[in-house]
Amino acid sequence: MTPQEVRDLLEATGAVRRGHFQLSSGLHSPTYVQCALLLQHPAHAARVAEALARRLGEPAVDVVAAPALGGIVLGYELARQLDARAIFAERNSEGRLSLRRGFALRPDERVLVAEDVVTTGGSTRETIEAARQAGGQVVGVAALIDRSGGSVQFGVRLEALLTENIETYPPDACPLCRDRLPLEKPGSRPALSTAGPAPPTTKPAPRSA
Ligand SMILES: [Zn+2]
Repeated sequence: MTPQEVRDLLEATGAVRRGHFQLSSGLHSPTYVQCALLLQHPAHAARVAEALARRLGEPAVDVVAAPALGGIVLGYELARQLDARAIFAERNSEGRLSLRRGFALRPDERVLVAEDVVTTGGSTRETIEAARQAGGQVVGVAALIDRSGGSVQFGVRLEALLTENIETYPPDACPLCRDRLPLEKPGSRPALSTAGPAPPTTKPAPRSA
């Protein structure tokens, strides 16, 4: 699939929304890509997973691990393409992504982390960490969309079907907040802006006067 074919499919399935959104990273953006609206169609999910698997060169992967909820469907379809198992990490009582439900890795199993949308890479990093803690060897990250424009680094190979630089703003420097546009929070992460440094922006925005 070409990047334009991926964009067209996202638009055709209504996955690209415009307005004022709080992303699961905590950043604000005028654009939100709801991949679930593309992935609700099994034929489309299979098509993008096949294209992503081809781009990866079908490496030897034992397990595809995805963060819940966004990555699950893509991870499952990727696992089908790569003849691997599909598992997912979900938030525990401390709010950290971890492997539950009896999901386990054998020592040095090769793990590919699958994510629908990478923005700051927070949930991807947590899934990498969960897989490593379980004994897996993380060989790469596969994403439907890297909306950081390629600036996010994981220390392992990242392959995205579509790489875009979509503008984001920290809440205290968001021009849409300044214009008092109603804010939508479509992500699945319950707790926002917990401990840790402020998330990076993909495009710096001037602070309001
Ligand atoms: Zn805002």
